[in-house]
Parts: sequence; C-alpha cells; structure tokens
Amino acid sequence: MNGFVFEALPGRVVFGSGALDQLPREVEQLGARRALVLSTPQQRALAENVAARLGERSAGIFPEAVMHVPVEVARRARDEADRLGADCVIAAGGGSTIGLGKAIALHSSLPILAVPTTYAGSEMTPIYGLTEAGIKQTGRDRRVLPKTVIYDPLLTLDLPLAMSVTSGFNAIAHAVEALYAEQTNPVTAMMAEEGIRALSRGMPLLARDPRDLDGRSACLYGAWLSGLVLGTTGMALHHKLCHVLGGSWNLPHAETHTIVLPHAVAYNYAAAPEAMKRVERAMGTQNAARGIFDLMQELQAPLALKDIGMKHDDLGRAVSLVMQAPYYNPRPTDHDSVLGLLDDAFFGRRP
Ligand code: NAD
Repeated sequence: MNGFVFEALPGRVVFGSGALDQLPREVEQLGARRALVLSTPQQRALAENVAARLGERSAGIFPEAVMHVPVEVARRARDEADRLGADCVIAAGGGSTIGLGKAIALHSSLPILAVPTTYAGSEMTPIYGLTEAGIKQTGRDRRVLPKTVIYDPLLTLDLPLAMSVTSGFNAIAHAVEALYAEQTNPVTAMMAEEGIRALSRGMPLLARDPRDLDGRSACLYGAWLSGLVLGTTGMALHHKLCHVLGGSWNLPHAETHTIVLPHAVAYNYAAAPEAMKRVERAMGTQNAARGIFDLMQELQAPLALKDIGMKHDDLGRAVSLVMQAPYYNPRPTDHDSVLGLLDDAFFGRRP
C-alpha cells in the first residue's frame, strides 16, 4: 500500500426517514437563534415547512436560488441575511440551493445547515461556484462546508424519476472518479465503492416505484458517500469535461455527467484496473463502462450529448478548452483521444 493523506472533513450528519424532525435540536446545537432558510422558487413550500418547524429561531425565507449561483442572487441573499440579522443559513434543496448557501458563507462565515433533496452531493464538499457575466468560477474554502447535514429520504419522494436517475449518475460519477483520483486512498475507495453499490441498487427500485422508501434511502445514502469522496479527493477527466460542457455550452449539469460517464470510464479503463474492479464489484457487472451504460439504458437516462443541446461542430473547441488546463487523469490525454471520447458521448454509442 502506498502512503496517503486522508483529509477527514468536519461535519455532523443526521440520516433517516423523518430526520427533518431533528431540525430544531440541530439548529440549537449550532448555537443559532435566527436562521435564514434558502430554497428555489419551486421548493418554496419546503422552505416554509422548515421555517415553521423552527418557530422563533427562523429569521425568514429566501426562496430565490437558481442554477449556477449568479453573483447578483448571491449578493441579494447576503444582503437579506444581513438585514434579518441571520446567524445561520439553512439550505433546503439541491446543489443550486446549497451553492447559494455557500456563497453567503464564503463572505460572512455564517454556519450552513444543509437539507439536501437531490443526489448532487454539494453538502459534503468545501467546493463553491459563482457565476458572473456567464463565467462560472469555482474554488475550495472550508468556510463553505456545511456544519450539519440532515438527510431525510422522505424529502426526496417527489424528486421526479428522470431527475432522480441523472442526479444518481452524477453521484456515481463523483465516486468513480474518486477511485482513480490522484489523491485516492483506501478509506476513500471503500466509501466510493459503497456509494456506487447503494446508488446502483437504489435507482432500479425507484424506476419501479419512485416513492419506494428503501430505494430512496439507498440513493440518498449513496449520494452522501459520493459527495464525501468528491470533497476529499481531486477529480479527473470526466469532471473536467463536464465542467467545460456545462460552463461553456450551458448543458444541464446532471444529464451531462450521466452521458459522459461511461465514455470517461472506457477511456480510463486500462489505466485504472483496481478502480474498475471496485466499480464492477459494486455494480455486479463484468465491465465498468458497459455496466454503467447498460444501467443508464435500463433506467431510460439520456445517452447522447446530441440530445441535450450539444452541436457536433463544437466538440473540437470543447477538447481544446479541456486541454488548456487539464486535470490529473490516470490515462494521459491528447486532443484526438479526448475528441474520440466526446464523439462517442455525442452519439451515445455503447462503450
Ligand atoms: P438543482 O439544485 O438545480 O435542482 C434542480 C431542480 O429540482 C430545482 O428546480 C429544484 O428546486 C428541484 N428539486 C430539487 N430537489 C427536489 C425534490 N426532492 N423534489 C422536487 N423537486 C426538487 O440540481 P442539482 O443537480 O441538485 O444541483 C446542480 C448544481 O449543483 C450545479 O450548479 C452544480 O454545479 C452544483 N454542484 C456543486 C457541487 C459542489 O461540490 N460544489 C457538487 C455537485 C453539484
């Protein structure tokens, strides 16, 4: 075994059906007296529910989170937190809402309590993103890592099936890349493998019944582990590709991760044999790339970049952007090989 550094991130996790009932106690434990509750406009009812549970410890709600955390929304949210004298932020929702909480914490150091309702995993990472004039900047800062996370599968029962599936593959992508990341280590690998196992067991249960609580719990547990390993390791080519496609072509986040994943895995297959064995064991498949692709097909996930707004003529420019500032990757990258990967993802070919 090679030497390694494992960075345990601080944070408290409360997991289980009905875990949201523990919210008042958890807010009290944080020492907070006036919490500002964030959500998207679509999840306003959740923000109101959270605020009602807090009673006088609620400072108010800000149900204006949107995709990609535009700086102007972040500024308004910060002003609202100031105006209300908030001493804590509760982010109830998916990665966009948690991202808004992080934008507030980055400048104010207010503690975040996150209540995730998708499988994106942002609640487990010190990574933040902010978009100004169409350009998304990301960074890492411990101040944005939530202090407490409440995972309640009951809150995910109404996450539409199609979103559950793409969000689930988004989470699997974090776990897969953590297995061959530069900073991978045996502890991270164990959690990543278990995350993949839980998600690939849970998602087919949701396909049969999106309100299956066992399936919902498995997926949320898998999402937690996948977010955790995303937060503690660097990522590789897959995440770089998705970052470029999302940032420059505005392709939808979870769908892009889903479509690119089997091709990134096929690209790295021979260069990361131990990682691939873990994926195969977790999914019960003979080949990691084909196993992921076949599960996507079974769950009717999107398969091709051409179907989510990408143009074939733009693939070359995407590769150039990837090659300008490449991430670490187990298999070296060159323009033509990465173009081949994107071409396969564009047409949705089985790896
Ligand atoms: P999202 O937060 O944008 O949510 C998409 C939509 O689904 C929203 O309208 C939301 O209100 C709705 N929704 C969420 N949960 C629901 C539920 N349970 N029931 C019904 N509707 C629900 O999507 P996302 O995929 O969770 O997050 C994507 C964003 O998160 C991207 O901007 C991405 O960059 C970011 N992200 C950041 C990190 C990080 O570590 N910083 C990690 C992963 C993702």
